This record gives sequence, C-alpha cells and structure tokens, in this order.
Amino acid sequence: MRNIFKDNEFYFVPLGGSEEFGANFNLYVCDDEYLVIDCGIGFADDRYPGIDLLLPDPSFVAANKDKLAGMVITHAHEDHIGAVAYLWERMQCPIYTTEFTANVLRKKLKQEGVEGVPIHIIGQDETVEIGNSFAVEFIPVSHSVPDSSALLIQTKYGNVLHSGDWNLDPAPVIGRKTDEARFREIGEQGVLAYVGDSTNAQVNGFSGSEADVAKGLAAEFKNCKGKIAITMFASNIGRLVSIAKAANEAGRSVAIIGRSLHRMSGAAYDCGYMDGVADFISDDEISYIADENLVLVLTGSQGEHRAALARVARGDHRGVKLNRGDTVIFSSRAIPGNERTINTVKNNLSAGGVNIVTPSDTKNIIHVSGHPCRDEISAMLQWVRPNCVIPVHGERQQLDAQAALAKECQVNQILVPRNGSVIHLASGGSEIVDHVETALLAVDQRRIIPATHQSITARRKLQYSGAVHASLVLDDDLRLLGKIKIDTVGLTCKRSDDCIAAELENNILETLDNLDVDITFNEDEIARKIMSALRKYVQETLGLRPKTTVHVTLLDI
Ligand SMILES: [Zn+2]
Ligand SMILES: [Zn+2]
Repeated sequence: MRNIFKDNEFYFVPLGGSEEFGANFNLYVCDDEYLVIDCGIGFADDRYPGIDLLLPDPSFVAANKDKLAGMVITHAHEDHIGAVAYLWERMQCPIYTTEFTANVLRKKLKQEGVEGVPIHIIGQDETVEIGNSFAVEFIPVSHSVPDSSALLIQTKYGNVLHSGDWNLDPAPVIGRKTDEARFREIGEQGVLAYVGDSTNAQVNGFSGSEADVAKGLAAEFKNCKGKIAITMFASNIGRLVSIAKAANEAGRSVAIIGRSLHRMSGAAYDCGYMDGVADFISDDEISYIADENLVLVLTGSQGEHRAALARVARGDHRGVKLNRGDTVIFSSRAIPGNERTINTVKNNLSAGGVNIVTPSDTKNIIHVSGHPCRDEISAMLQWVRPNCVIPVHGERQQLDAQAALAKECQVNQILVPRNGSVIHLASGGSEIVDHVETALLAVDQRRIIPATHQSITARRKLQYSGAVHASLVLDDDLRLLGKIKIDTVGLTCKRSDDCIAAELENNILETLDNLDVDITFNEDEIARKIMSALRKYVQETLGLRPKTTVHVTLLDI
C-alpha cells in the first residue's frame, strides 16, 4: 500500500459522516500512529431497497490495525456508536468513552454477541494518553444524550478540538452545560483546527433549552383529554425526564414502550440519571389505568415500520391501543428523508380519530435540537479561535454553511472535506494533501456488503423498471424445442395486462429467425442477442429498461 502519511506529521482523515448524516467515522494520524473517533451507523433511504442500516467502511483502518492505538466514542447516539458491534472485530482496538456511553455500548455488543472488547471509562474533564502520540481530554458538552463530550486531541504538533455533537443549552435537564470557561482556556493555548458539528449550520439563532421543553410539555399535557402517547429519540434521556416531570404534574403515570427505550433508560438508571424520577409502570399495568391518567412513551418518531408507534398506528400492537380523542405528541424532528414514513404513521393515526401534535402545531416548546445553530457555532469559534475550521457531520450543504459562517467569524483558514480527504494539520497552515478510498457498507440480512453491491443496484432497478426473464431450448440447427417460457415483473402492455408475454415471445421468434447459423453457435451469445432485442423492444414500446435475463440451452440431438 502507498504510504500516504509521513512519519513526523499530524493528519485528520474523515472516513464517514462528512458527506451524509450518519456513519460518523474519523481518523487522526500522528507520527504514523492511528486514533479513530466514533464509529456510527447511517439509516438507509429509498436508494437502498431492502437495507435498513449503512456502515462506514473500515478497510483503510483495518489494513493498518497494527498502527491503531485506540478508538474514542464521543457519545451514545447511533450515528457515533452504532457500527462498533459490526466493525470492531476488524479493528480490534481498545475503546475509550464516558460511563453512560460505555453502558449503552456494552448492551449493544451483548445483543450482537460481540465479546472481548476492551472498554475504558474516562470521566468528563479527564485526559487519557492513547498510544505514544495522543492525549485526549473529554470536555463536557450539552447534547440530546447524557455524557456527551467534545475532545481536545493533544499532540506534539498542536491541539485539535473535535467537537462531537453539542449545543449551548443554558439549562440542560441532565448533565452539565457546555463548559464555556474551559473552551476559552483551550483557545488561549492555541488550536490548530476545530473539527465541528455542521448539522444546524443553516439554522439561525440558538437551539434552545431542554428545561423549556419540560415546561412546554407540561402545558401541552393540560390540553389533552384521553391517553397521551409521545414519541421521541430513545437516547434522549433528558427528554424522558422532562416527560416524566410533566406527567407527574398532570397526575399521569408513564409507561415506556419499545426495546431501545428500555435499553437506554436502563443505562440511564445504572448511571443514576433517573434518580428522583417516579418509576415507570409496566406494560401489564397499562390496561388498569384510566386513559386520562396515562402517558405512553413510544419509539418510532421517524415512522420506522417496525417501531412501536407505527405498529400502534396500524392497530397491530398487542399491548397498546389508541382511540378517538387520544393524542400523539411528536417530541422530535423529522430527519430529512423520513418525511414519507412519518406521514404514513400520521395518516393511520388521523384515520383513527387520534389528535396529532408536532412541534410546528403548538406554541408550546415540545422539542429542541441537540445541535448548535449559527449563533452557538459563532460563540464557540470566538471562544476557541482556531487556526483552521474543518466542518464535519452533515451533507455538503451543511458543511458549506458552516464554512461560510466561519469565514464571517474571521477564521484564517477553512477546509471543507469529503469522506476520504487527507488533511495535513500544521501550525503554518493546514491543507488537503491526498485522498483515501472510502465507501459505505450496507447491512443486508446480517451480511455486510458494499452499499454499491450489484444486488442493491438490481433491487433498485427492479423497483423502478421491473424485470423480464425468458428461457428457451434450441436444437443444434437453432430450431426451438418446446415453448419459450417468459416471466415478467412489474410490466404491463398498452392493450391488455397479459399480452406482454405474447409480444415478447414474438420478438424472440423474430430474433431467432434472423440469427446467422454459421457464426452464432454459442448459448451465451444467442442469449445476449435475444436479450438486447428484448430490451430494445420494451424500451421502444413501454419506455422502460427492465432487468432482463435470458437463458438459452442448446440440445445436441
Ligand atoms: Zn451525530
Ligand atoms: Zn448526537
């Protein structure tokens, strides 16, 4: 393998999450020693039929795993932690993270049957030496999951502030505020580069406070008559506490429904984050409590087909039924791309007479984002005053928006990376010097394949263009033996639904008539000629390019 990194230098290489939301996977290289930050999943959209999860590609790191000193996880969100269970075996390094994150990670590893992962728990404000080249300080930041940290990565070439996900919530319900004083000190010491969260770089103002959500939910609950079902991201323990407080004020008991909510709240209990919160009632107790005394917290805020909310909305959840006059509150935002599935859930609820409240339907604050908006990013850049800003964690438009904002904030140098950009970090000026190949992987029925795998391309093609399969047997004079068998998927004919097979059969017979016996005496070559004639015919008559396969058998009789 070509040696990309010089021995006595410091580099940053985003390997996932810098062109898409999700699949965050970042690499720092110092004196040819490697440090990985985060290893998360992405959620697949319509481009990947049959696929739910995407993973970053660990090949580059795995090929150099003898140089890999460790992996740091900034926080317990799926887009930062979710791929560890799938990819750790290929990297086999120690993992450093905070207590809550470690707790969630252990539960996920156990669920996937991955054993032997060395996890080191690091307290917030603590610094850990990793390998010979890195010292990493965990700095508390507020975010929508407990124990989130920004990382100060210290090397002999200078310091990088890797922000992780953060906001400037002035009154978080759980955990500490983002530590302004510490960030100012870090700025005093000098920062080579700020590698930061771009999610909300297009949104003006501030993200708001979880304390206001607690008040907003309490006010919203007062408007509700029957059962209240509320959906949110399972990892948002602060929100769960806000819901519990609002429910308590309204004299309602809380039940949580969905596996990930149980897993996350279990991890929060273990860390003491649920102290003082009234116990949740069990699934069995739900039916004994009057509707107006009940709040159900459900997974599935993104309309996920198998999650609790979608099942309740379809009426196929065994434990929970919603009736006319009940209310579903979406205490969440739609991740771009999920609007259609969320809409399906809303339509099902609406058809059953259930009231729906989303953040835009009410003046009460029922959701705030965990990511920094423009005024928060500006504040951070003013505290830290980095030599260089490298926007990550977003699609290209969010990265570009943070870049433009950094320019307004008079930052000297701004580098917008792609996944795979090799950025040389130096006090005299950082620059993109090279590129490593990187791609997404897809989890397909528990097998991991490239997201560009031909099976996924074929599924996409089938979805939009249908398929034709023909099979025929010829003798050695190229005369047809028996009938041509034709199957089509998703094709209709102009005249009637079942005439397409007859038309395709005629097309094949014409092709056979025109075959030159002398030069084509090969099954594959005959199949190719029939296939290209069929494709041409279907495209001309139906305007589609279906996936076409033809099997020809030559019988020597
Ligand atoms: Zn994230
Ligand atoms: Zn996050």
